[in-house]
Amino acid sequence: MKHAKSGIGKHITGAGKKTFFAVHPSRADSFTESVIREMTRLALANKAINLAQGFPDFACPPELKTAAIDAISNDHNQYAITWGSKNLRDALAARVKTFNGMDFDPEAEITVTCGSTEAMMASMLAIIQPGDEVIVPEPFYENYGPDAQISGAVPRYVPLAPDFGIDEEAMKTAFSKKTRAIILNTPNNPTGKVFTRKELAFIADLCIDRNAIAITDEIYEHIVYDGRKHVSMGSLDGMHDRTITIGSFSKTYSVTGWRVGYALADAAITSRIRKIHDFLTVGAPAPLQQACVAALDLPESYYHGLAAEYDRKRKILYNGLKKAGFACELPEGAYYIFTDISGFGMKDREFARYLAEKVGVAAVPGSSFYSNGGENRLRFTFSKKDETLVEACRRLGNIDM
Ligand code: GLN
Repeated sequence: MKHAKSGIGKHITGAGKKTFFAVHPSRADSFTESVIREMTRLALANKAINLAQGFPDFACPPELKTAAIDAISNDHNQYAITWGSKNLRDALAARVKTFNGMDFDPEAEITVTCGSTEAMMASMLAIIQPGDEVIVPEPFYENYGPDAQISGAVPRYVPLAPDFGIDEEAMKTAFSKKTRAIILNTPNNPTGKVFTRKELAFIADLCIDRNAIAITDEIYEHIVYDGRKHVSMGSLDGMHDRTITIGSFSKTYSVTGWRVGYALADAAITSRIRKIHDFLTVGAPAPLQQACVAALDLPESYYHGLAAEYDRKRKILYNGLKKAGFACELPEGAYYIFTDISGFGMKDREFARYLAEKVGVAAVPGSSFYSNGGENRLRFTFSKKDETLVEACRRLGNIDM
């Protein structure tokens, strides 16, 4: 994410007459549009395979489709309760207890939102006072920059260690009296890092020490490899009341377009999140909330199957990228490979444009995951059919420079 150079004051019309835009700066001036979504548009314009934006090109489970159709047929077409249909909150509370080891009261501690994107924004607006510092480990999912800007937070970007783990010294230095929160994403987008219990405990101690809140984006919680276990920050000792856990149905059930996510937090924080959420969106789509209840009914084998599918896909893309000359590691979780493109002698944006226009594969420039830097990286998603990945790898073999 790059902060746009302000265009304020440049829109002069007529004889020195200033337009509305010249005299009314906006919080929207401080950040650019999403590079991820921009790359999707570039992919469409060039008929390139879109390995930029992380969404599947395969179908969601049939049970979800049937449940969504049934919900519409059965007239679940008016507003749900603003913070989420009761049966969905009840089902979520049960699932989070067994899978994440956390207890949340569905009546007071769960808010269903329009995707994890809204959950994050509503959470930030609920806890931030303008000027508060928010720690953002870097590289980071690009939304967190604008989330901080919109909520009035001062983002404090803290580099991760070279292996993308927590750099303890850098974290200790970054936490200050002004720190209101840290935004942590595990499994991580774009790096694929799955933070260990020990790393999370280190952050938890800092949060407790400095009276800060952990906002943890756990949207890829079911996509982990090689026997790793996802650990929820909110399940650690002393963290229940100071963690906002953000989740979603998008990635786990391959329904990114449904826009159903959630925020889990203790009652005091949740009452604030709910107020913000109510005025932002009123509520998530009611029939799709019913379909999400059906999603939570899927057997355990569904989750194992999902991770196994993505394990195969990550290996297809990894082998293709290696063969094409990219430096990269197999990710520990999530569905991205964060490559090093130093060997190609082109900067990320230029290289991404070349790949989309001439090679027919779209990726995300690395700099969109850094406040500063990242020009030596590109991110590719493998959330695609095997055949899509195989064709993308074939095309990457045509890189000619
Ligand atoms: N989370 C996905 C990604 O990183 C999709 C982003 C988006 O467009 N909402 O690509």
